[in-house]
Amino acid sequence: MKTRFAPSPTGYLHIGGARTALFNYAYAKHNAGKFALRIEDTDFERSEKRFEEDIMESLKWLSIFPDEETIFQSERLGIYKSYVVQLLKENKAYYCFCSKELLEEDRNKLIAENKKPMYVGRCRELKPDEALLKTPHVIRFRVDRSSGAATGFKDLIRNQYINVNNDEIDDFVLVREDGIPTYNFAVVIDDALTGITHILRGDDHLSNTPKQIMLYNALGFNAPEFAHVSMILGSDGKRLSKRHGATSVNQYKKEGYLPEAIVNYLIRLGWSHGNDEILSMEDIIKYFDLKNISKSAAVFNTEKLLWLNSHYIKLKDPFILINLINDIKDDFQIPLSLDIKTAALVDSLKSRAKTLVEFRNKLDFFIDETINYKDEILNEFNFNENDSAFLKSFGEFIAGLNDEIFNCGDMDLTARTGKENALEKLKNSIESIKNEFNGFLSKNNWTIKEKAMLIRLAFTGEKVSPPIYEMIFSLGKERCVERIEKFSDYIINIKR
Ligand code: GLU
Repeated sequence: MKTRFAPSPTGYLHIGGARTALFNYAYAKHNAGKFALRIEDTDFERSEKRFEEDIMESLKWLSIFPDEETIFQSERLGIYKSYVVQLLKENKAYYCFCSKELLEEDRNKLIAENKKPMYVGRCRELKPDEALLKTPHVIRFRVDRSSGAATGFKDLIRNQYINVNNDEIDDFVLVREDGIPTYNFAVVIDDALTGITHILRGDDHLSNTPKQIMLYNALGFNAPEFAHVSMILGSDGKRLSKRHGATSVNQYKKEGYLPEAIVNYLIRLGWSHGNDEILSMEDIIKYFDLKNISKSAAVFNTEKLLWLNSHYIKLKDPFILINLINDIKDDFQIPLSLDIKTAALVDSLKSRAKTLVEFRNKLDFFIDETINYKDEILNEFNFNENDSAFLKSFGEFIAGLNDEIFNCGDMDLTARTGKENALEKLKNSIESIKNEFNGFLSKNNWTIKEKAMLIRLAFTGEKVSPPIYEMIFSLGKERCVERIEKFSDYIINIKR
């Protein structure tokens, strides 16, 4: 078995395209077959190098790896030409010299007669001489017009035979005026020559398939099996488009989604394995089949994608998350450092941040050296003398904490054991801070509930923050004390 993904590089890898690639990849791998990538870049005007690179990078990011070298149609024009010569010689194709205006005229006439607008066949029987061949022309496929002729194939997803009367099919163009082969022609040559056995693609190609079957037959190739996957709809039931938010894989990457979450999400978009929601690439390859591909359109649901993203984020070690957060955007000026203080905060946010970008935003207070309190947030509060008194004691409490608590040793965080030791030590440190802090509160008859907001505001300037113990650990004694003092000054000034 051999499947392929054959994108045209006329845009970034779309989420629907990624699903098609994943389905083809999973189907091949499940059957111990091969998966190939072919870039269909014969539309020279619309194809762009940056899109081609994006498609290849995005597939790699999703762990969808082709088994052989990627094929580029633009490098194979000579091959297509030799096959069109064969078809012409065998009278299975013909030259067409009709001008755009003439075609338009014929078309309008048919429409006026309530008939399907198709090429009327003016040049079908023409025997052009050399002089005529020097004028602009296209090459058309000669569809079998004998009475009752039909073309069909069995769709593996619909599980039904789709038969189309040849009257419905135009003498479609194989080679355009500029000598470039059309999609329907090049796709057949390539799929046949590279030994593709199964083609899974969007059902927007349903009408192309009979034309391609005709070409397989005309060229004496065995036709592969076809499966047409229903499209993806936005929440409003309309075809998924930019209106619904991010549609390219790279956009999801930029927004802080993990590739595992995207893959898991996409495979469930139109395919199921019982009630399984969590599926790794390994599971997908193990279970994937066509039988469980849904026949109806799938609806894109961002909430579910976020849920899956949180799931995969929670499984990650905080040091890996730090690297992933640093990877997502190049416009972040200051990268997070790979140290235990950052890891402590990242770990504490694992159950709260649904995307890597959210992590990054929640860590601003930690990355920024200085803190600037905002009136619009703090004006909501009525701070009083008790608050000032608490902050004073809290500062003294922090200053008095044993330095040992903050010391996680000089563990080598590039090694697994170093990371594990550091995380173990971190757990103890957080426990110690918790015990000390609770002792401090109860000695003064304070509760965490009444003081937590003040601490959050002091440390981050925001009403929502990472957990207090982790913030104390990560900011460290000096920065905590500095912020408590700055905050105290600020609230005294607010009152004046
Ligand atoms: N280049 C075509 C597309 O992007 C490929 C369709 C196919 O899989 O045959 O739609």
